[in-house]
Amino acid sequence: MSNTLQYWQEKAASLSIEARAFIDGQYVESESGATRPTFNPANGDKLADVVSCTPADADRAIASAKAVFEAGTWADLAPAERKAVMVRWAQLIEENLEEIALLETLDVGKPIADTTGVDVPSAVRTIRWTGEAIDKIYEEISPTGHDSLALVQRLPLGVVAAIVPWNFPLSTTAWKLAPSIAAGNSVILKPASNTPLTALRIAALAKEAGLPDGVLQVLPGPGGSLGSHLATHMDIDGLTFTGSTPVGKQLMEYSGQSNLKRTFLELGGKSPNIVFADADLDKAATMAAMAVFYNGGQTCTAGTRLIVEKSVADEFVAKVIEATKGWVPGNPLDPESSMGPMVDEGQFNTVADYVAIGKGEGATLAYGGEQVMSETGGYYHTPTIFTGVTNDMRIAQEEIFGPVMSVITFETEEEAVQIANDSIFGLAGAVWSNNINVAHRVARKVRVGTMGINNYFGGDITVPFGGFKQSGNGRDKSMHAFDDYTELKTTWIEFS
Ligand code: NAP
Repeated sequence: MSNTLQYWQEKAASLSIEARAFIDGQYVESESGATRPTFNPANGDKLADVVSCTPADADRAIASAKAVFEAGTWADLAPAERKAVMVRWAQLIEENLEEIALLETLDVGKPIADTTGVDVPSAVRTIRWTGEAIDKIYEEISPTGHDSLALVQRLPLGVVAAIVPWNFPLSTTAWKLAPSIAAGNSVILKPASNTPLTALRIAALAKEAGLPDGVLQVLPGPGGSLGSHLATHMDIDGLTFTGSTPVGKQLMEYSGQSNLKRTFLELGGKSPNIVFADADLDKAATMAAMAVFYNGGQTCTAGTRLIVEKSVADEFVAKVIEATKGWVPGNPLDPESSMGPMVDEGQFNTVADYVAIGKGEGATLAYGGEQVMSETGGYYHTPTIFTGVTNDMRIAQEEIFGPVMSVITFETEEEAVQIANDSIFGLAGAVWSNNINVAHRVARKVRVGTMGINNYFGGDITVPFGGFKQSGNGRDKSMHAFDDYTELKTTWIEFS
């Protein structure tokens, strides 16, 4: 049943949507009464009027977060007790998988096959894995002399604000919440204004799992006023952010202007996908298309710069175009759809503008470049491939955040690395070659946080994720994520 469009349409028609903020353990309106509509990008229909929080609402939430932290209600629980709550929370999300996946599909326009198969399961695994880890972390005794004993412990920061984007709302939320909450912090989450629904839903499940009131609060509201208020607040001790590089830079300034809150950033990308002539070209072509067109290209790690050895470029591009024909925009509620609409009109216009820019810069439009399904009221754009791109063009340098691939050619290994590194970003990338020496050499030299060899999008919760250069400074996932949410504390004991 769940593999039919009708099943999901019927389920969507009867879905109840929680659109209020979650403050101090309760769903509440804003003190100001303000709301902002959220729309279904597949057809432009309004889904809900979501509470839009103000700085006054944030002050109330921060006071609650601070009080519960200082009382030690959560922070001072034994790790095994925090673990039990986190694992129960993951279990409850899993039990409500279909409802949460549907909310995400309606709010973001992601295909239901992705939200049921990737987004929600990945959030469950993140919260479960991280929760299970928390009672397995040993602290340190330093190598002092015999007349003293020095303990090096990890303590939570206190009150953490998490600000997340719209492209993977649930996954990025889980990446932030799991380690920050498990470590004992009180956390205030500000979801993106156009995709707040799944974060609001899982907050109630956290409470049901046993998380004390005030430890997790979800405040939808505008980045400009609410987000900046959190980022400049003197009672916020840590800030974790996923979003664009310009906003990330602003947040670092806010930190300096306020209380030097620990600020960790996961930012944009323009990732290189390097293909050598000796690679398995069929597999590389299939994955090159997926690397850009998955999630409609609205992926920070998208392999948008396809850097191909010149001797095989024509043959390889033909294979990529063939693979791209499998990425057809469609109704995200249809389990057969692999690609939905752009998240909103603004993002659609950005993509259309960059297609015009690419043409104007002299690149060759080899595939796509069009709006489709406009009769639905949704913002659908075809997968688009530009060839004849040089790395100095704007379509090779700027993050488009849509289904647009730029194909660049190279002749030597050194040139491939030079092109890959000629970017302000350093988030992800891949190299395809059957020569182990070439593959390892190139993987090491490309300055990015995650590099695939003969795969794209490889990785799971066990490995850290984050950027070099202007792609950020923090690390989500793995045990390293705890570094962003804890302070190291030394206690020195001297024997008399
Ligand atoms: P964005 O415009 O930077 O917004 C991200 C979040 O920041 C939203 O919640 C936004 O609120 C808020 N915000 C905006 N201005 C703010 C301000 N002055 N102070 C505080 N908060 C503010 O990014 P986006 O367009 O939503 O997301 C796309 C970007 O995220 C891309 O650059 C992408 O590469 C990046 N991304 C990176 C990763 C990673 O892990 N490296 C993962 C996913 C996405 P509003 O929604 O109200 O504007």
